[in-house]
Amino acid sequence: MFQYAQPVANLIAQLNKLPGIGPKTAQRLAFYLLHAPEAEAKQLAEAILDARAKVRQCSLCCNITDVDPCHICSDGTRDSSVICVVEEPKDVVALEKTREYRGQYHVLHGAISPMEGVGPDDLKIKELLQRLQQNNFTEVVIATNPNIEGEATALYLARLLKPLGLKVTRIAHGLPVGGELEYADEMTLARAFEGRRELD
Ligand SMILES: [Zn+2]
Repeated sequence: MFQYAQPVANLIAQLNKLPGIGPKTAQRLAFYLLHAPEAEAKQLAEAILDARAKVRQCSLCCNITDVDPCHICSDGTRDSSVICVVEEPKDVVALEKTREYRGQYHVLHGAISPMEGVGPDDLKIKELLQRLQQNNFTEVVIATNPNIEGEATALYLARLLKPLGLKVTRIAHGLPVGGELEYADEMTLARAFEGRRELD
């Protein structure tokens, strides 16, 4: 059976590990990179290493950033009375695009999922509690995804935060059930934010 030269096979194997990249796409990408100008291939390799080296988590909101605190946390013009809890950094990007929200964020880096062995301790919940204790937030908006894991996480947080005397709200209105924030259009997401309801 014919096999690619070892370095080519290795490149295909590495690309194949990326999410959403099957063997055929990995092969196509590998040959694209082999035929691309050397500078282009080098730029890609350097971009990967550069992002890995410079990007870290904001010590306040846990979002990914190249400066600490991040641009959102250090923006004095933003509302410091409301904090929006999301699952992933990409959700912050999706919500920022709506221009509906001007408060603070907190990124959990996941959602509670017993099926995948993800419990509350695996998320940035301890960091959230710390921020809530050290600051004067009046409202916590839970903007986890409208799927099973997101709802379980919202429920868990609501029970945890209610005794702290905070208003805990949940965005829901208009978002497709089982969907994800990042795929909602800006208008729908903005309305979902406006139509948030209090959790009890
Ligand atoms: Zn931050």
